Amino acid sequence: MSLGCQEWPSGRPGSAPGRRPGVDSRARHTLLAMATVSDPILPPATIGILGGGQLGRMLGLAARELGYRIVVLDPDPACPAAGVADRVETAAYDDVAGALRLAEGCAVVTYELEHVSAALVDAVAEVRPVRPGAVALRVAQDRLAERDFLTAHGVPVVPWRAVHTVDDLRVAAAELGFPIRLKSATGGYDGRSQFRIADNTAMIGAIARLNAHHGQSLLAEHEVDFATELSVVVARGLDGTIACYPVGRNRHDEGILVESVAPADVEPVVATAATALAQRIATAAELAGVMTIEMFLMRDGSIVVNELAPRVHNSGHWTIEAAITSQFEQHVRAICGLPLGDATLRVAAATVNLLGTGPRRQARLEGVEAALAIADVHLHVYDKHEVFERRKMGHVTATGATVDLALERAIAARAALHWSEEGRS
Ligand code: AMP
Repeated sequence: MSLGCQEWPSGRPGSAPGRRPGVDSRARHTLLAMATVSDPILPPATIGILGGGQLGRMLGLAARELGYRIVVLDPDPACPAAGVADRVETAAYDDVAGALRLAEGCAVVTYELEHVSAALVDAVAEVRPVRPGAVALRVAQDRLAERDFLTAHGVPVVPWRAVHTVDDLRVAAAELGFPIRLKSATGGYDGRSQFRIADNTAMIGAIARLNAHHGQSLLAEHEVDFATELSVVVARGLDGTIACYPVGRNRHDEGILVESVAPADVEPVVATAATALAQRIATAAELAGVMTIEMFLMRDGSIVVNELAPRVHNSGHWTIEAAITSQFEQHVRAICGLPLGDATLRVAAATVNLLGTGPRRQARLEGVEAALAIADVHLHVYDKHEVFERRKMGHVTATGATVDLALERAIAARAALHWSEEGRS
């Protein structure tokens, strides 16, 4: 069942400087920031996390188990990660001064979302190591840079064009063919900032709907008729060691992940190809941490890469219960320069997201007892104080002898759960 991989890439990087007596503190931190291999960061050192959402929360929980301390930067002092952090630095994702305050007490800084400002990351990288690293973050922040990066490394992607004007879009549509997916180059996630253009009529209002003006970068892509969506969570240590989790199969609904199962029921040749792509991308991106590579499996068995996320990811939540090392612990190990853990799957698993329903109101989950009465069900609630339609509020992972059984259990648990119509008392 396991498709885990563990290997040394060629050209293992040499030792880089750790603490050097006589080097002033700013220079030392710059050297640390540049280091590819340095002394491991050991507990009880403090890890800084840019972003305090559910990913920061689960990362914080894993880091705490290992004995690290956690500081989180988030605009919301009551963010999901607040409950597991030693301190929340309440600041916007582009607040450089706030990020530097966060970095001050940290041995390493990581992020749980790509959409922190580049200026902020550059400023933090001057004083502390920021991992998974600058190349990975730069390509993940901009879909056009991502496509250029993937193409330059021989990774197949869906036919695409950069679009800045209505004329560009017309040319792209003529060359790519309808339907088209038009995506903002920056800032989109969970299906936001992208939509489908079915024909010429729909194209007219398309750019206006995205609030695009002349010069704004967009990505136009042919909408492909894939067989299924896959993802690979890959980890790369500071010494270049790589560990891949087994390939997962995902289902999205209007751009939001709703279901992820592992191992994906694909031919071994497909799993091998997906894993090889993930390894290639992790090495090319000089990854130091965990990255998820989202892919489309085409009907002819070929694979195209859709998106890179150099961080822990929703499609890897099943690793908490089903893998020997969770993606969260793996990320902590990687950014701290520790040996990577075993990415082998112990049991088949399925994760389903708990999305919010209805109008914005205080969040109170009902049906917990019934959900937890189902065998091998694990509930994760993100402690978001308000619920609204399609907000990611939690997830359920179920395990089982087969993926089908695990998915059946997870879906049954989700069906038992719902958000109270009343506000929280
Ligand atoms: P993205 O924001 O690019 O990750 O897209 C979110 C989801 O939209 C994907 O996981 C797919 O389900 C769907 N999607 C995005 N791009 C395409 C495409 N070119 N063809 C078909 N479906 C797509």
